[in-house]
Amino acid sequence: MFSYRHAFHAGNHADVLKHTVLLAILRHLVQKDAALTVFDTHAGAGLYRLDGDYAQTSAEAADGYLRLATGELPQPVAPALQDYLDMVASFNSKGSHKVYPGSPFIIQRVLAERGRDKLKLFELHPTDTKALVANVAQLEAGRQVAILREDGFEGIKKFLPPPSRRALVLCDPSYELKSDYARVSEMVADALLRFATGTYAVWYPIIPRPQAHDLPKKLKTLANKAGKSWLHATLTVKSSKLLKDDEGAVVRPGLPASGMFIVNPPHTLKDVLKDALPQMVALLRQDNNAASTLEHGG
Ligand code: SAM
Repeated sequence: MFSYRHAFHAGNHADVLKHTVLLAILRHLVQKDAALTVFDTHAGAGLYRLDGDYAQTSAEAADGYLRLATGELPQPVAPALQDYLDMVASFNSKGSHKVYPGSPFIIQRVLAERGRDKLKLFELHPTDTKALVANVAQLEAGRQVAILREDGFEGIKKFLPPPSRRALVLCDPSYELKSDYARVSEMVADALLRFATGTYAVWYPIIPRPQAHDLPKKLKTLANKAGKSWLHATLTVKSSKLLKDDEGAVVRPGLPASGMFIVNPPHTLKDVLKDALPQMVALLRQDNNAASTLEHGG
């Protein structure tokens, strides 16, 4: 069984990028009246405590969301970043930063304003599924939210195309298994055949591993071959070089960077991120390697 628990990482710089992009996509999609189905193929537990044991162990949120929530912000704050900060704040009482919403709760909060949309959450780990079921139960969202204890890569297939004919698929694996990289591109390739007009948003880590390096290239090729537009945003907060401590032992630097690759992005997303990414760099930088990129095609 996997050992990855998102609770150790909730609110880190990768979540800031992922959840800001996710929210910006959702805001655009719900502008149309027609029903929307959102799939989260790797849902996690849904809600996290930033003051809990897990979060304290790595304190990754301190160099992520908490820097934004408690530090000095540029003025004016980019609208997408402000929207993300307001979203997380809405799960906390004023001035406190104890709760961090994962993707299922961010999505549900946006969809809850409308009655007709559906949210389908896949989660394979028994502990996280149990936590997710308990967390979602508090929402009293009824049939709007479904939790499937299934492999998200496989499980999504039976739902595409959705009856709503409008959908967003968030694919956010832990990449604990090297095979996840290939499974992501296989899933997107298959999904584009089943439902070519869906929006597909993939998060991936930027780490010195060939599979991680190749994934955005593969997704670009897939989107181009399918004649679909795409957007690729990355956020680097520090160097990926291994460091040595005072005793000369090699220290892993932790996750230095991550990316979001979106197929069929909303046409508004590029401009939204053009404003937000440089502010994320300025706020989350840990050394001189901090940077962002934004490219698009199709
Ligand atoms: N999307 C969540 C968020 O943004 O709040 C975080 C998800 S976390 C990065 C990845 C999750 O995927 C973990 O909870 C893990 O247990 C789960 N998982 C791993 N392999 C899976 C699979 N094949 N299908 C569904 N869930 C899986």
